[in-house]
Amino acid sequence: MSAIHLKNLVKKFGDFTALKTMDLEIADGEFMALLGPSGCGKSTTMNMIAGMEEPTSGKILFGERDMAGVPMGRRGVGFVFQNYAIFTHMTVRQNLAYGPKMRGAAKVEIDRRVGAIAEMLQLSPLLDRKADRLSVNILQRVAIGRSAIMEPAIFLLDEPLSNVDAAFRAVMRTELKQLQRQFKQTMVYVTHDQLEAMTMADRIAVMDHGVLQQVGTPLEVYNNPANVFVARFIGAPGMNLIKGGPAESDRGLVIDLGPLGVTPPLPDELAPAVRAVRGEVLYGFRPEQVTLAERGLSMPVTFVERIGARTIVHLGEGESAVKAVFENDVGLSIGQAAVVAPPASSVRVFDAATGRAIK
Ligand code: ATP
Repeated sequence: MSAIHLKNLVKKFGDFTALKTMDLEIADGEFMALLGPSGCGKSTTMNMIAGMEEPTSGKILFGERDMAGVPMGRRGVGFVFQNYAIFTHMTVRQNLAYGPKMRGAAKVEIDRRVGAIAEMLQLSPLLDRKADRLSVNILQRVAIGRSAIMEPAIFLLDEPLSNVDAAFRAVMRTELKQLQRQFKQTMVYVTHDQLEAMTMADRIAVMDHGVLQQVGTPLEVYNNPANVFVARFIGAPGMNLIKGGPAESDRGLVIDLGPLGVTPPLPDELAPAVRAVRGEVLYGFRPEQVTLAERGLSMPVTFVERIGARTIVHLGEGESAVKAVFENDVGLSIGQAAVVAPPASSVRVFDAATGRAIK
């Protein structure tokens, strides 16, 4: 019942298409993140699942049930927005108890549920505080509690952590994941923050310009991005991509990167598909997978960022600029030449014309 199926879902606002033919299946009990930059259509998708917006065309099914025309209050979904919607003149306890009370639950049952949810969200010591005396962080916790107490089979959260501070956000990521494990709801979580998506979601739906770009586990979208957008958007920094063309060498198929030279031979399984492209390709590798090598891409160091023990080294310029991330200080400084190489198994190649990954 609480699986969600979006079928050919389209949403237009006048002439503007905010969502183009979205197909997505979210399994019962799955934590699905909708991830993408501002304006990509995440909230529009979410609002249609919630019943706040009607699709222009396409279907939304909860289990086998078509949600067309089913109002928000009848969908059995819990919803938490970016801006906490709570009653400031009430105490935390009254806020949490509000939903069950409206549903006519017995007092002893309400007390039990308030106690349990307050415990889980670390709100027990604050139960008798008036909401207008609480910080933004705590208010968002109360807002989550108020929705969660209704034990919705489907829980929709739209950027719930974007207004809370960074330290609290890290705590809440863990708590939300625990909450979902405990209640086993189907959770759909809208965010533009890949860290939130990567750490909490079972699968991530990456979106851009109203188009679903890829659906996969956090590791799948990180290791095998379907296209250049996903390659750049996932990862911090994103994947390095350098333009080049396939060329034969006596050691096998390589990519000629112009002034940077040629890459090591491509993995055997990739070579036929890269040969078939004929045109330009993008040679991709993750900054974290780079090692300093004897042979590889020789580039000048243009900038060095040290973030604690982590070092981000910027190399080369213009279209062939890349970044390399090291977990220690590798002793490189601006102006020095460095030779870097990604392990062949981690190299990904994209068709420059279409942006699609070559597999
Ligand atoms: P954000 O994180 O900024 O909210 P988003 O990915 O959630 O981004 P949406 O809010 O779904 O994006 O909006 C997608 C596009 O649709 C945007 O270009 C937005 O301006 C447009 N849009 C959303 N709602 C409406 C509306 N009611 N009328 C007209 N255009 C809209």
